[in-house]
Amino acid sequence: MSKLSIADLNKSDLENKTVLVRVDFNVPLKDGQVADDTRIRAAIPTINYLLENNAKVILVSHLGRPKGKEDKYSLKPVYEYIKNELKIPLTFLNDCIGEEVKNSIKKAKLGTLILLENVRFYPEEEKNDSGFAKKLSELADIYVNDAFGTAHRAHASTVGVAEFLPAYSGLLMEKEINFLSKALNPEKPFVAIIGGAKISSKIGVLKNLLDKTDSLIIGGAMTYTFLKAQGKNVGKSLVEDDYIKTANEIIEKAQKVKCNLVLAVDHVVADSPDSESGEIVSDIPDNKSGLDIGPKTIEKIREVLQTAKTVFWNGPMGVFEKKPFAKGTEDVALILAEITKKGAITIIGGGDSVAAIEQLGIADKFSHISTGGGASLEFLEGIELPGIKVLKDK
Ligand code: AMP
Repeated sequence: MSKLSIADLNKSDLENKTVLVRVDFNVPLKDGQVADDTRIRAAIPTINYLLENNAKVILVSHLGRPKGKEDKYSLKPVYEYIKNELKIPLTFLNDCIGEEVKNSIKKAKLGTLILLENVRFYPEEEKNDSGFAKKLSELADIYVNDAFGTAHRAHASTVGVAEFLPAYSGLLMEKEINFLSKALNPEKPFVAIIGGAKISSKIGVLKNLLDKTDSLIIGGAMTYTFLKAQGKNVGKSLVEDDYIKTANEIIEKAQKVKCNLVLAVDHVVADSPDSESGEIVSDIPDNKSGLDIGPKTIEKIREVLQTAKTVFWNGPMGVFEKKPFAKGTEDVALILAEITKKGAITIIGGGDSVAAIEQLGIADKFSHISTGGGASLEFLEGIELPGIKVLKDK
C-alpha cells in the first residue's frame, strides 16, 4: 500500500497553493490547557514542510466528542499552545466552514498558518456528509491527511473531502504507514505483544497476528481469560467469560499455525488494584486478582525477544498506573529499548503502552511510536483504513 505523500510532489505543486491539512489535535486538556502535546508536535514536520514550500496551510481537526457547538471542546487552547509554547505564529478562525472562513483564508498571505475550529461542532462531520465535505473542500486547492489517529474513521474531514480535492498523505501519515507496513510484512522472527484489559477489543488483531507472528505474547488482564480457558485458577482476576470460547479457538489455531503463544506462568496478585503491594504466585488464590505478570514470565518474554527482528507492542502487561503492578510493563519496555539498540525494529502501538514508555522517559528508544492506538490495531488487522484508502496511490 503505497500512497503519494507531500514529499513526492514537486515544489510547483505546493507553491502558492492553499492546503487543507487534517491533523489529529485531539489532545487531552486539563483546566482548559493542553496537558500533552505529543500529537501537536507530531504534525509539525508536515506544517513546516508546507510553509517552507510557500503554501497557505489550513489545519482542521476534531477535539473530543462534542454534541454540537460546546465551548469546552473548542480548539482555542490548542491555538494558544502552538502560539505561546511552541512559538509558531498562526491564526485561529471561530468556525471551519462558511463565507467568513473562506474570506479570511483568501485574504491571508502565502506562508500563513491557520487553525480552524473543531470540525465536530458539525454533526455532519461524523456522518461523512457529502455536502459538508464539499464545503470543507472549498477552502483549499489540495487536501493532506496527517491524522493517522483518526484514519480508521470515515468522516467528512478524513474521507469525504478527498472526493473533491487531490488528496495526499502528510509526513506523519507516511511514516506511520511505512512502519506499520513493516509489521504487516515483517522481517522474522516477528513477535507481537498484546496486553491491556480486554480480549473483546483486540480480537481482530489477535486473530490476524496468529498467521504472521513467530511468537504472540499475551499480557494484561486478557491473560486470565486464556488461563481460565485452559482450566487454570484465575481467582478474582478480570475475565471476559463470553470470550473463553474465542480464547480456546486462538489457542488451537496457534498450535495449528505453529505460532508460539506465550501466556503468563506467574503473577503479581493482590486484593485489588488499590492494594499497597502485591504477592508473586504461580497459582492464583481464589480471593486474589492477577494484576501484573510475574518475574518468571518476564524472563520468558526476555528470552523470546532476544532473537526478534520485528516487534509490535500494544497494551500494558498489568495495572501499570499503580506502582506495585507496573514492573511487568516497565520491564517489557526496557527489554524492547535494549533490542532496538541491537537493531530490531520495534513498533509501539499507541495508547497505554506509550503512556508507560513516557512515564519511564524512554520514548526515543524505539523505532516507531504510533500516534494512533485504535488505528494501528485496525491497520494490523489487515483492514485498509478509510482515511488512507482515499489518498492518491504512488
Ligand atoms: P486497553 O485499553 O485494553 O489497552 O487496557 C488498558 C488498561 O488495562 C489499563 O488501564 C490497565 O490498568 C488495565 N489492565 C492491565 N492489566 C490488568 C489486569 N491484570 N487487571 C486489571 N486491569 C488491567
